[in-house]
Amino acid sequence: MIAPAMSDAGTLAQRLLAGDRRALARAISLVEDDRPEGWELVREVYPHTGAAAVVGFTGPPGVGKSTLIGALTRARRAAGRTVGVLSIDPSSPFTHGALLGDRIRLNEHFLDPGVFIRSMANRGALGGLSEAALQAALLLDAAGREDVFVETVGVGQAEVDIIDHADTVVLVLMPGSGDSIQALKAGIMEIPDVIVINKADHPLTDTMVREIRGVLSLANLDHATDRAGGWRVPIVKTEAERGHGIAELVASLDAHRAQIVDEGRLQERRGRNLRNEVLALASARMRRRLEEELAGDAEFQRLLDEVVQRRLDPASAAAALLERAAAAR
Ligand code: GDP
Repeated sequence: MIAPAMSDAGTLAQRLLAGDRRALARAISLVEDDRPEGWELVREVYPHTGAAAVVGFTGPPGVGKSTLIGALTRARRAAGRTVGVLSIDPSSPFTHGALLGDRIRLNEHFLDPGVFIRSMANRGALGGLSEAALQAALLLDAAGREDVFVETVGVGQAEVDIIDHADTVVLVLMPGSGDSIQALKAGIMEIPDVIVINKADHPLTDTMVREIRGVLSLANLDHATDRAGGWRVPIVKTEAERGHGIAELVASLDAHRAQIVDEGRLQERRGRNLRNEVLALASARMRRRLEEELAGDAEFQRLLDEVVQRRLDPASAAAALLERAAAAR
């Protein structure tokens, strides 16, 4: 890939803001590759972001997230809205859309200029994939995508960090995927805003709905929590492949958004997420700076040797390191 010179950033930004798909693809590659031009571009277009409705989808592999996003995309397009889809796979070594063909079941949308689909898996970016994903979502937003769907594979910590940036979080399950219910029960997983039981043609669907309802009410999390305000988490049954339940899901997503906008919680939630983002980026940069300063540092090596020899514990070594770094500034 040939990167644009810094002086091209203006034109790239203008093309991006005008909704140019090639500019968008280029821009996302720049942030994914952690190139300075990418950060520069986000800085330029950031004042033009904030209009997109960002919905995050999480849940175990194979439950039908991609199929569901395909069906939702169809519904949003039919309503005349433009869509951006980011598929994030922290566990994959591939980058730049290499896994799109097999993972995302959105083939019918590839030729539609109103739909932009991109997968990301690069872990090399500053602050990690979660930061790169957020920057990419901002770029989609700046390019005028009205709906941005962010999909992650699995339900690990990296996925949770990514999904946290969404305005609405959807947990997708299918009958028989008990692990996620356990994770909800144990409080490992944050309570989503909407729960989807896909593959609802399965005979155990209603049992699962009851079980989830039980977990939510047991934890008193189905209404009136700080995070949820007056929102009661809906459990929507879908058959994504056949398009069943998609209208109900669209209605739930719209209702959630309307409510958090009304209650002022959209701004609150975004404020909290952006605070986390600023801290994450600052920490990543501090760590990088520290590592650069310490490369080939004999005193640091001596401290590490002490730790390895069990004469000094790791926390004391870290404290000594920070003291030295502070004194040097
Ligand atoms: P993801 O890994 O969560 O993104 O799941 P996919 O969207 O790739 O779907 C996994 C498999 O489930 C695919 O073979 C889909 O065709 C299938 N699938 C998706 N939705 C449904 C559904 O509603 N019913 C049934 N029976 N299969 C479905």
